[in-house]
Amino acid sequence: MVFSFCRAAARKAFAHQASSNVAPAAIGISHTVSTCLKEYSHQQRRLFHEKKFEEEDDHTLEKLFVRNRKWVEKTNKEDPTFFKKLAAGQSPDYLYIGCSDSRVSISDLIGIEMGELFVHRNIANLVVSSDVNLLAVMTYAIEHLKVKHILLTGHNDCGGVRAAMKHKDIGPVLDSWVQNIRDVYRLHQEELDAIADDEQRHRRLVELNVAEQCLNLNKTSVVQKRRNETHADPNFSKSYPRVHGLVFDPATGILCKVPTDYKKIASEISDMYELFDEHDFMVHPDYVIGSHDKDETK
Ligand SMILES: [Zn+2]
Repeated sequence: MVFSFCRAAARKAFAHQASSNVAPAAIGISHTVSTCLKEYSHQQRRLFHEKKFEEEDDHTLEKLFVRNRKWVEKTNKEDPTFFKKLAAGQSPDYLYIGCSDSRVSISDLIGIEMGELFVHRNIANLVVSSDVNLLAVMTYAIEHLKVKHILLTGHNDCGGVRAAMKHKDIGPVLDSWVQNIRDVYRLHQEELDAIADDEQRHRRLVELNVAEQCLNLNKTSVVQKRRNETHADPNFSKSYPRVHGLVFDPATGILCKVPTDYKKIASEISDMYELFDEHDFMVHPDYVIGSHDKDETK
């Protein structure tokens, strides 16, 4: 009741003020009504802006929906069975771990179809052992989807890598994240410091970061367990998942393998990180020693 009176009084005073441009005190409005007037005015402004923002949001989404419908129409024309196949479920061979950078769309880079690639992205494509999000994605991809390849992909002109090369506070969360890249720099400091050109040094750190993240993948129990299982299984010609370190250059669109031989480094440090013994895995009953030597070099 009081609020209703207050709101009505405020609306009346607001209208009067708007038409006469006279301050509330000058027309004898009490302090309470004056306060209500301010609140009412503030509320009206807020509602006006909220409505404006909602309209802008609707407009933004509308543009995306228009693009979506055009894409659906085009896709249906090219392949009338496309969505039927998509709805049937996923069985991807690849797990992609890449940077969140908006310019890097792996599907477009390699012309891969929807349903062929399971994806995880974060700033600077890092594999951090405490990242539960990444570990959940890896576990699902490796143990349930049985992906055969992990594509760990970095890119030139990476903002995360550039941030790690600067001595600048970027806030506790981002600082903590790029700290992982600074650790990579420290491991290769002699090589990196010897590169005079800033851009070339950045590119080399992108490559070394990819190689280091590949090593981190090999340290995880989920990768090691599956590789041991497939190694003991004669139905597989190689141990899976295979880990591939790649770099994409937004300036050319070219995707390349990292030149660093991280597999050699992985074999050198495997004693430190190996979590399983070969006896932990049941050898398949059809297995005959030497009957199917697996080429693990590719
Ligand atoms: Zn990036």
